[in-house]
Amino acid sequence: MHSPYLINPGAPKEETAEKSMVSLEHALRRGAEINALGVVMHTGSAVSGGREAGLERVRSRVLPLLERLGDDVPPVLLEPMAGQGQVLCATVDDLVTYLEALDWHPNVGVCLDTAHLFAAGHDISTVEGMRETMDRFGEVVGADRLKLIHGNDSKAPCGSNRDRHENIGLGHIGAEPFAELFRHPVTAGVPITLETPGPEGPHAEDVATLKRLRAEA
Ligand SMILES: [Zn+2]
Repeated sequence: MHSPYLINPGAPKEETAEKSMVSLEHALRRGAEINALGVVMHTGSAVSGGREAGLERVRSRVLPLLERLGDDVPPVLLEPMAGQGQVLCATVDDLVTYLEALDWHPNVGVCLDTAHLFAAGHDISTVEGMRETMDRFGEVVGADRLKLIHGNDSKAPCGSNRDRHENIGLGHIGAEPFAELFRHPVTAGVPITLETPGPEGPHAEDVATLKRLRAEA
């Protein structure tokens, strides 16, 4: 499940941060009640003052919450963003410093959004590019951390830092790289959800396209 989009654990304003943590805890407890496999949290933004200070704030807020809740709740799934403004985490390598800030806590996983990765500069519009990006994830983060994929094509070009989802095959990523996504060992057993424009018409086509690519993979 997804926690509310307004949560920002890196916010410089205490009031925003407090509300964010109350909201995250609430989402995690609800997740526990329905036996959710994970609760997605957008990794947030420093807003101002730079990434290092922002990550320090994430650490001071999220780590105590993780410690207090222990394994009574599902894992928090960090979702890297498209890279706009002072976001704290957009690329695969950004995940490493983010996870370091959380001491690689065992109750933290990752949700990769293909449109965000692409906008953040990972050129996954080719089979090779997708493979390299997933290889890198396996090397520096580890396949065991990957718990969910948001499978989206992108209306915005690679490296644009803009978060604009598109139906599968109609954007700048294209359909074919998704076959490589299914083939890659780091995604074995990892569920994929769509956040493409829908739910009428194109959404059903997206599901059919991904099922076809999965069968071919
Ligand atoms: Zn997403």
